[in-house]
Formats: sequence, structure tokens, C-alpha cells
Amino acid sequence: MSSHYDVLGVAPNSTTSEIKRAYREKLLLTHPDKVGGELSTDLIQQIQLAYKVLSDETHRQEYDDELARGLQKQGFNINGEGLDIYSLEEFEFDEDAVLWHKMCCRCQAPEAIKLEESDLELGTDDGEGGLELVVQCNSCSLWIKVRYMEEADE
Ligand SMILES: [Zn+2]
Repeated sequence: MSSHYDVLGVAPNSTTSEIKRAYREKLLLTHPDKVGGELSTDLIQQIQLAYKVLSDETHRQEYDDELARGLQKQGFNINGEGLDIYSLEEFEFDEDAVLWHKMCCRCQAPEAIKLEESDLELGTDDGEGGLELVVQCNSCSLWIKVRYMEEADE
């Protein structure tokens, strides 16, 4: 399935004016004169929906979050390059909830970055004998990379 960004042919970090321009260009391309009289309503609807979401800051943020969550659910490890790296030892462990949490280093929201045991199972080799995974702040959507050692069973 194409994302709204794909539909408009813009990068996920495009500015609103770039999105506006792409929208106008796409609409022109779907004009009946250009496509030989056949009006592709399906495509036009997709373009309009994409523009509606991406041109509105709040909707776009929500959509970005959704995309990120979707990618996470598929076990997709986003390219962690350029992300701040933390050790799991910098997290606090909540024994009752059985999860690790940490204050976000950007928005300072307490316990905004959380890792559950099932998350840790998704880690990938960090090339230095440990594991790493990327995790997102629940509050400001910042991504960080967390490194840890595979847990020894007690
Ligand atoms: Zn944050």
C-alpha cells in the first residue's frame, strides 16, 4: 500500500510548501486533458486525501505516528543511523509492569520511552557482541537507539 507521501511523490520530510506544489502538479497530471479524457477519480481521491492529511500539521503528525507504529509492528528496524544511542542500563526497570522506562532526552517527558521484554526480542546484532533496537518516545516521537546484552536466564 502506498503512503500519502508516495501518492504525492514527496519525501517524508518535505515542507508544507513542497507538499502543496506536489499536490498541484499531481492534480494537473490527472486532469482529463492529460490522461486522454479518462478521469481517474480513484487516483484524484487518493491525491486529495493525501494532501488533506499532509497539509495539516496535526493530521500529518498523527499520520507519521501511525506510519512509524505500522513499521514497528512489522518488526521493521528503521535505519538507526544518526540516532542517539543509549544503553539499557540507563533505563529504569519497573518490576511490577515488567518494563524498562526512561525519561525522554528531548521533550523531558518522564517514562516516555518504554521497552518491554517482547520488544527486546526484536533486537538486531549491533556488530559488537550485543543487540540493538530503535524505540520511539511516546510523547514527542523522537527515535533513539538502545543497546543491550542478551539477557541470561536467571
Ligand atoms: Zn520525547
